[in-house]
Formats: sequence, C-alpha cells, structure tokens
Amino acid sequence: MDKLAIVVPCYNEEEVLKTASQALRGVLKDLICKQKIAEDSFILFVNDGSKDRTWELIEEEHRAFPRQVCGVKLAGNVGHQFALTAGLLTAKDMSDVTISIDADLQDDVAVIEEMIDKFHDGCDIVYGVRRERKTDTFFKRTTALAFYKLMRLMGVKTVYNHADFRLMSRRAVEEFSKYKETNLFLRGLMPLIGYRTDVVYYDRKERVAGESKYPLKKMLSLAFNGISSFSVKPISLILGMGVLIVLFSVLAAVYALISYFTGHVVQGWTSLILSIWFLGGVQLLAIGLVGQYIGKIYMEVKGRPRYNIETVLTADDEGGA
Ligand code: UDP
Ligand code: MG
Repeated sequence: MDKLAIVVPCYNEEEVLKTASQALRGVLKDLICKQKIAEDSFILFVNDGSKDRTWELIEEEHRAFPRQVCGVKLAGNVGHQFALTAGLLTAKDMSDVTISIDADLQDDVAVIEEMIDKFHDGCDIVYGVRRERKTDTFFKRTTALAFYKLMRLMGVKTVYNHADFRLMSRRAVEEFSKYKETNLFLRGLMPLIGYRTDVVYYDRKERVAGESKYPLKKMLSLAFNGISSFSVKPISLILGMGVLIVLFSVLAAVYALISYFTGHVVQGWTSLILSIWFLGGVQLLAIGLVGQYIGKIYMEVKGRPRYNIETVLTADDEGGA
C-alpha cells in the first residue's frame, strides 16, 4: 500500500489551519478505509516563517494527532514556491506519493481520491485543474489569462489553469530534486520532468478564512519569474528588432539621399539621419547578440538535467522473466 504525504505550505494561516487539518485528516481517513493508501499516510504542514500563531497551531495538531499531522518549520519566510519545495523534498524520503495543496482549502479536497486513482493507474504526476474561475475577482481572472497567453507566446509549457495542487509520485519528486535552480517556478518545471501525467478537474472555491497571501506585487514577481526562468525569447526579440532596424536604415538611407539630391534639406540633416538609423540598428543588434550568449550562459548555469531515463531494456531482463 502506498504511503501518501499531503504537503501544505502555510504563511500566516492561523485562521484556516485547524479547518484545513480537520478536512485533510478526513480525506486521509476515508482513503485509508477504502484501502487506497497506507495507514501511516500523513499531512505535512510547512510553516513558511509565519508571523502569527500558525506554528503553535501546527504543534498543537501534531500533539493531538501525532501520526497524521507532521510539520516542518522554515527559519524564515521564503515564499510559496520554496516552502512547497522544502515540503516536497522532506516528504520524499518519508512517503511513496505526495500531494501539494494550499492551506486555504480553495482547491477541492474531494478530488484527491481521483488523483490517487490515477496514480494507481500508473500516472506519476496528476495536475489539479480549475474548471472555471467564478470565485476569483475579475481582475485576477483577466490577469491570469493574460499571463498564460504570454507564457505560451514565450514558448513556456504550462498546464492551463493549474495552480500548485498536484500529485507527484516519489520518483517524480526525486527527479524534480535534480533541478537546483533558485529562480523557481514549479508549474513550469513539472512538464519538464516527463513521465505519464494526467489532470483532474475541480471548481475552485472561496478562501475558507483569512485573506490572500499573494498580493499584486508577489503575483507580478511570480509571473515575471515564470517567464524569465524558462525563456530567453525576450533577448531574441531584441536581436530581431536590431535586424529590422538595420534593414529599415537602408530604406531611410534611400529616402535621405533622394531628399538630399532633390535639394529640400537643411545642411547636415542627411548624414545625421543616416547615422541615427544605422547606428541605432547596429547597437540594438549588438546588444541582442551579446544577449544571446548571456541567454546561453543563463541556461547552462541552471544545470538542469538534460534527460530523465524512465526505463532501460537490457539483455539481463529477458522477456517474461
Ligand atoms: N504561502 C506561503 N508563503 C508565502 C505566501 C503564501 O507558504 O509567502 C502559502 C499560503 O499559506 C497558501 C498558499 O501559499 O497556503 C497560497 O497562497 P494564497 O492562498 O494566499 O494565494 P491565492 O490563492 O490567493 O493565489
Ligand atoms: Mg488561495
């Protein structure tokens, strides 16, 4: 029977912690009764340097339910993505399969069973995908949509409308741990891991209590991080623009020379306008070119795994053995 760890990052979540713990313990109990997960499956709360009583509450829950509720206390606030990573990497060695979910219970715990079913069917990653965004504000909905569109334009593969509610098998987390990058955008990394994946759909609910820990500033920085960690396309755009302007400077030259010979210009204008267009283009092109190398250095520095071998068939394991 597979041991499940539910990883929950928490930052100033004192209002929702008990409710979350109760709901998730209910899910564990139900799945254990149905014999879908091992009896020693557990919840792992990660306290991301909360300033309120979150950690005390986690300790209380752990005392009351030592087997089901475990906790990790980070020394300071490192942000959702790192807190989640800390949780996943801690859970990796203690479980066979992990599910990450936010503390506010906006994601539907009822689909956890479906995720586990898909895991038993052989999936290594199961993405929770929001069916619609009725409960989000108009602003959040539109900005999120623009973000996914921009990501696609920049060539970053992500699962549309998937936040960080996700099942990962132990070997998927193991593979994920090889990605050492500091500019972390988990949603973009997961598709790189490979393996068989699937999605489950759910309706995103309102926060149980408290308010969003993702103010606009954090949201924008996550979005920028998402694009800049995966794509060097913006640099290529600069290079492209440089090429275009150099080409355009040829047209500008023709125009300037015609004006010069037809005699309708102030002295010095022709040489000036020619230099402006040509030099402007060459400069942009040069910056773009240097940028290409920097982009490559950036990708090299990340040191991402180049491949992930799933199976090898060798002479030793003859068919039917
Ligand atoms: N979170 C965290 N560290 C932070 C900010 C948020 O661990 O610095 C956690 C938070 O406790 C919650 C999850 O990340 O469990 C998602 O945050 P939230 O629900 O506030 O984001 P929203 O759903 O509004 O996008
Ligand atoms: Mg939330």
